[in-house]
Amino acid sequence: MSRVAYVNGRYLPHARATVHIEDRGYQFADGVYEVCEVREGQLVDERRHLERLDRSLAEIGMRLPMSRAALRVVLRETLRRNRVHDGLLYLQVTRGVAPRDHGFPPLGTRPSIVVTARAVDRAKADTSAEVGIAVVTVPENRWERVDIKSIALLPNVLARQAAREKGAREAWFVDKDGFVTEGSSSNAWIVTADGTIVTRPATPGILKGITRAVALEVAAKQGLRVEERPFSVAEALKAREAFLTAATQIVMPVVKIDGQQIGDGRPGAVARALRARFHESAERGP
Ligand code: PMP
Repeated sequence: MSRVAYVNGRYLPHARATVHIEDRGYQFADGVYEVCEVREGQLVDERRHLERLDRSLAEIGMRLPMSRAALRVVLRETLRRNRVHDGLLYLQVTRGVAPRDHGFPPLGTRPSIVVTARAVDRAKADTSAEVGIAVVTVPENRWERVDIKSIALLPNVLARQAAREKGAREAWFVDKDGFVTEGSSSNAWIVTADGTIVTRPATPGILKGITRAVALEVAAKQGLRVEERPFSVAEALKAREAFLTAATQIVMPVVKIDGQQIGDGRPGAVARALRARFHESAERGP
């Protein structure tokens, strides 16, 4: 089936969906984005994703160039035209097209909006989760404002490629004190030997993941003990379990860190339970 993308007011065939070379997203990575899970044709946690989008925009001195209601229509129409049942929706807003100049473009420059959607094989993702994935650690080398969901992702790109070259699926950034911050596109978690779930607090050192927030709610409902505090690589290597969260992965068990097996080398009970119960707590609307 041919795919369709929304670009600045028009639904275009994916292959011909383009933005201008002077779009500030292209020139400066001057923009922000969101990725939402699509499940059974519906957006998962749309409200929280759109709230985070508003926050990211505000932090870089921008506003959505259309109403929330109008944007929600565009998101639904993009899903409908692509007939996505299970998959992902991508939404990007940049500071628009203007002659290249680092400072903000002239007042009235219209932000660019791009929305795409694609199907993802849910069975394949579930199979990955049954086996678990490997991660590698890399030095944290990003700017301090990673709480903004910026499209400037070069360190994340390089980290993910480093992981891939070592046969791993994700890279975990490690700060100068030896503590894990987060993954290249996910939040990082461990379960200690006494069964406590540990994840770094959502201070500006990480992106405040929507999946992270929902997973914390699921853990609370299950009466699991949670500590929001930094954990080191050494502690992760000794952990009973490790896992990551992201809208694209839900809760994904991690069974190897830097080539070392975690726990018994199989997905742990906590990660499996959080994954199984996740969608009972996530919001889903028409
Ligand atoms: N951290 C980073 C750096 C990410 O790119 C992502 C994925 N967008 C996450 C964490 C997880 O966020 P979410 O659960 O909202 O997908």
